[in-house]
Amino acid sequence: MKGRIGIVGAGASGLAAAIAAARAGAQVTVIEHMDKAGKKILSTGNGRCNLTNRRMEAECFRCGQKDFPMKVIERFGLEETLGFFEGLGILIKDRNGYLYPYSDQASSVRDVLLQEAERRRVQIHLSCHIERIEERPCGGFVLHTDQGRLSEDALILAAGSKAAPSTGSDGSGYELARQLGHSIIKPLPALVQLRCQGNMYRQMAGVRTEAGVRLLVDGELAAEDRGELQLVDYGLSGIPIFQVSRFAAKALDQRRRVTVRVDFMPAWEEREAFGLLKKRASLLGYKPVSDFFTGMLNPKLAQVLIKCSGVNPSLKAGELTGKQLGRILGQLKSYEAIVMSVNPFANAQVCCGGVDTRQVDPRTMQSRIKRGLYFAGEILDVDGICGGYNLQFAWSSGVTAGRSAARALEGGAGK
Ligand SMILES: Cc1cc2nc3c(=O)[nH]c(=O)nc-3n(C[C@H](O)[C@H](O)[C@H](O)COP(=O)(O)OP(=O)(O)OC[C@H]3O[C@@H](n4cnc5c(N)ncnc54)[C@H](O)[C@@H]3O)c2cc1C
Repeated sequence: MKGRIGIVGAGASGLAAAIAAARAGAQVTVIEHMDKAGKKILSTGNGRCNLTNRRMEAECFRCGQKDFPMKVIERFGLEETLGFFEGLGILIKDRNGYLYPYSDQASSVRDVLLQEAERRRVQIHLSCHIERIEERPCGGFVLHTDQGRLSEDALILAAGSKAAPSTGSDGSGYELARQLGHSIIKPLPALVQLRCQGNMYRQMAGVRTEAGVRLLVDGELAAEDRGELQLVDYGLSGIPIFQVSRFAAKALDQRRRVTVRVDFMPAWEEREAFGLLKKRASLLGYKPVSDFFTGMLNPKLAQVLIKCSGVNPSLKAGELTGKQLGRILGQLKSYEAIVMSVNPFANAQVCCGGVDTRQVDPRTMQSRIKRGLYFAGEILDVDGICGGYNLQFAWSSGVTAGRSAARALEGGAGK
């Protein structure tokens, strides 16, 4: 008789696990508390689903155990992921190494996963709520749900995190993991905007500009990135901010001081930038300082930087002293934003924190403390940077969990 595998969560990792387990011969049941499967997949990559990336390195992931994510990725890597999706019908589009379905529709990724799950006779119980999980004395689990009891030989928790809870990941998976004996590292929002002190952001809202950002915690560099910065009415957003945000979330949670230094001229060395300002001051000496940046910076941004420099905007550019130019340069190359908080889980793309990976075997995704229990996806204390890494971790951990659970049952329950 085939082994029965229960999977909690019909998201990216749960569906990948279901397909892998069913292909390996298991009878698979997925329990999903939303009325539709794979809701979060639909919002990925601005509706286009950046499903993975050609560059796959340890630096692209963050985790309490540094080498854990790549050990998982190596079990089911980029080429296997591409083969998996091509086999389901997804033609891949490559945008500078960032990989998407050629249709540019996240819905096609969800659709092919669901089509394959159906073909493999995976049962998906929608709008199904788990009331409690009981361990069977002889191994396996009984899931008590509002739709009845399910008896499973193995269980995969793929319930996601607390990020974007409207898609179904409300953090209840952590509670199930805790009930089964696992420790949870405090989940915090990541890949998220930063809320900053001061009302100048309202003035700069809507500006998008290339910038370098350095995140400082108690004055020490914690993370840095470069790319298109977006100024919003309450602070900072855009990919470079998302990339450093998890360090801000952790530091603020520890009540440490967090600032961001923004370089609005990242392509220019400090000396070069100063030379440029001097040259402009002599060339455009007849202009008031308020017009000095026209043609170089967005005027909304220029106004704020001049104000922060303390230089009188009605002065003529030609009258600026070296010291005043230096103060303007200081704002241009190292504008300081004081970070008050990160946006809440509702705005976050992922969470940092989750099930402690020390208690999970990366070769199988099986719990080290409860036989027959497996984990997949964002429920774990793993977060990737922007660029397809979080989905890649979901595919790799999901397929590995599904395969290992099915193989263990094939070789004898709980093996
Ligand atoms: C706006 C946005 C854009 C993103 N874009 C990208 C991108 O382009 N590329 C990328 O790599 N990553 C992206 N991500 C991150 C990526 O979507 C997630 O990391 C990934 O979907 C996690 O998969 P998962 O299966 O672990 O969790 P989820 O996809 O969250 O799935 C978990 C499922 O479990 C269900 N569930 C939870 N608790 C229970 C319970 N108690 N009982 C039953 N069911 C339960 C949920 O309803 C959900 O369906 C984005 C995220 C967001 C929010």
